[in-house]
Amino acid sequence: MTAKSAAVATRATVYGYPRQGRNRELKKAVEGYWKGRVDAEALRSTAAGLRRSNWRQLADAGIHEVPTGDFSYYDHVLDTTVMVGAIPERHRAAVAADATDGYFAMARGTQEVAPLEMTKWFDTNYHYLVPELGPDTVFTADSAKQVAELTEALALGLSARPVLVGPVTYLLLAKPAPGVPADFEPLTLLDRLLPVYAEVLADLRAAGAEWVQLDEPALVQDRTPAELNAAERSYRVLGALTDRPKLLVASYFDRLGDALAVLAKAPVEGLALDFTGAAAANLDALASVGGLPGKRLVAGVVDGRNVWINDLSKSLSTLGTLLGLADRVDAAASCSLLHVPLDASAERDIEPQIRRWLAFARQKTAEVVTLAKGLARGAGAVSAELAANRADLASRAGSPITRDPAVRARAEAVTDADTRRSQPYAERTAAQRARLGLPLLPTMTIGSFPQTDELRAARADLRAGRVDTGGYEERIRAEIQEVISFQEKAGIDVLVHGEPERNDMVQYFAEQLTGCLATRHGWVQSYGTRYVRPPVLAGDISRPEPMTVRWTSYAQSLTDRPVKGMLTGPVTMLAWSFVRDDQPLADTARQVALALRDEVADLEAAGTAVVQVDEPALRETLPLRAADRAAYLAWATEAFRLTTTGVRPDTQIHTHMCYAEFGDIVRAIDDLDADVISLEAARSHMQVARELAAHGYPREAGPGVYDIHSPRVPSAGEAADLLRTGLDAIPAERLWVNPDCGLKTRAWPETRASLENLVAAARTVRGEL
Ligand code: GLN
Ligand code: ZN
Repeated sequence: MTAKSAAVATRATVYGYPRQGRNRELKKAVEGYWKGRVDAEALRSTAAGLRRSNWRQLADAGIHEVPTGDFSYYDHVLDTTVMVGAIPERHRAAVAADATDGYFAMARGTQEVAPLEMTKWFDTNYHYLVPELGPDTVFTADSAKQVAELTEALALGLSARPVLVGPVTYLLLAKPAPGVPADFEPLTLLDRLLPVYAEVLADLRAAGAEWVQLDEPALVQDRTPAELNAAERSYRVLGALTDRPKLLVASYFDRLGDALAVLAKAPVEGLALDFTGAAAANLDALASVGGLPGKRLVAGVVDGRNVWINDLSKSLSTLGTLLGLADRVDAAASCSLLHVPLDASAERDIEPQIRRWLAFARQKTAEVVTLAKGLARGAGAVSAELAANRADLASRAGSPITRDPAVRARAEAVTDADTRRSQPYAERTAAQRARLGLPLLPTMTIGSFPQTDELRAARADLRAGRVDTGGYEERIRAEIQEVISFQEKAGIDVLVHGEPERNDMVQYFAEQLTGCLATRHGWVQSYGTRYVRPPVLAGDISRPEPMTVRWTSYAQSLTDRPVKGMLTGPVTMLAWSFVRDDQPLADTARQVALALRDEVADLEAAGTAVVQVDEPALRETLPLRAADRAAYLAWATEAFRLTTTGVRPDTQIHTHMCYAEFGDIVRAIDDLDADVISLEAARSHMQVARELAAHGYPREAGPGVYDIHSPRVPSAGEAADLLRTGLDAIPAERLWVNPDCGLKTRAWPETRASLENLVAAARTVRGEL
């Protein structure tokens, strides 16, 4: 193993590419198929065309081995479920009748059967369908999709590498099937699953695969010795197969930790490791396990999940260091490019100068190719690219957009006192009670009311110039009137204006903050055919003018009851955006928090007595490794407090989060120092109330009594029962009555009926106190 032989062999590769196509053709074809407007053949040919064009683009750009099998009609974890034959019992008939329709039935459910559950893919905003397994699960190999896609790519004369979800990650992502005891561990099925992978590998080899990539991102999370053993056994077994392609075991999103030694020793031919962000620790770790003698190392040096240009010189030097540690080193993006938009050059509305700071999938591909070339032939071979990259990095670092002295000075001047309220919770709660004059078990909602077709049409009209700002705002005021008058009639105690003016809870604020960019084509897959266009937090953040005050004030002018101001919190703003990578997240969070703090102050000055700052993403951006969590929670909770603690003692601060399990962050929730928290609880029968109580949570809480994810109207009796259950855990003085989350996805009829029942339930239970 000499540096020279490694250098000669260096190649560029990626693990996956955006699936949707330049104009989201895939979304249109799949949704058309669901509606019966596109037939199966047309769907298949659209998909094949998209795959072909992706591969051609990658190959033309200089990618040596194109990935195959990363394409999906809906989700690659669901594709893996099909590949291993783990079709849930309830979907078998549909799958047997028609594979495509059965596939979509698993993804979306039908009138008769529920879909698979959907959850976040690690700490990304991509959602996968959770495999359902049990002691009776029988795996059978179905390599058709993988083989077909490999064959397609090879037929184009390309060299291609199938990418599969690895067996350990597949099992670790699974959950017990319905009816299977909750303590069933899918990993116990490993010995049954490995022969199926062996069969798929043999099929791929027969179809011409030289290499197959097995993705094991679950190994970057903290793993028990038993789980590490499972990884060791998997790759010992698969490695020992005689009829198989070369194996490349890939990990990404964080460092491998203890799993690195396991994989380094495994009898596989290559490892793909992430060297970006916290995963940069893989570099030292790799040296300390003695490198990967005799193996291929694929080095993820270009961040595959942000939208920023790479520091090419820095990456080249990382690659240079790695050269001595493996038999052959290839350059890659750190993870599939699925998580970034397709092409920054399509963003014609972004100033060309700023656009040059952005790298989407196409630009990242070019970066990887440049790096491979630079490594193979020396930096001189890519001197033009390196010079252009240096200039772009310098333009970004020196720009007034990324460096606003006023914003920086203010952020630096923040003191601990700025993040503390003037009175402790126990004292200020009395002042708030006196000011608000609420009954026991006060009722409220989480903020949004139905986003009707009319509202969406009004926004589209405004964008298209069919209506002017005055006309649009007229519509919004009319909607607010209706929302306020309904809430008054229904007898709700703390009202909201209904958020009719918001297209999205993050985008709405990003559009009004200086330092944020909007993209026109920056779509990324969230799940299935749902794509989102996250804002880009590109520069120093400031708030040129109030963002919500006039709507809240207008709503308050219509009623004597308190109207709650509604803001999206700093952590959620970051979590659902692409955030600049040239400073710590904590610094950006602090800037956003200061902008929001001014908004809170303005709301208070305008007479708002209750302000809610939503942080539904607080838990989802929790680092994958436990060792990193305390530092994250420290800056995250500080940013929330910086947003909210500038208020008078008698101004009540609410927060809202939507998930049912959060025992692991109750301490952090208390550190927010909010007065009231509302949470999702209806489906779990108030589990959160018990968890809060078990952790001695001392503040007011509103565990949801109305499941807003379903059009179903809960009866007053049902809601009252949930309230009584809540009262077993939380005393009446601290219990609020509210739905699980905002009502924007609901229609008016069910919203009206459900909220009326919710108020009736509160009244009934108040009478029992
Ligand atoms: N205030 C927001 C709403 O009511 C909260 C949404 C959320 O938690 N995701 O829609
Ligand atoms: Zn919510």
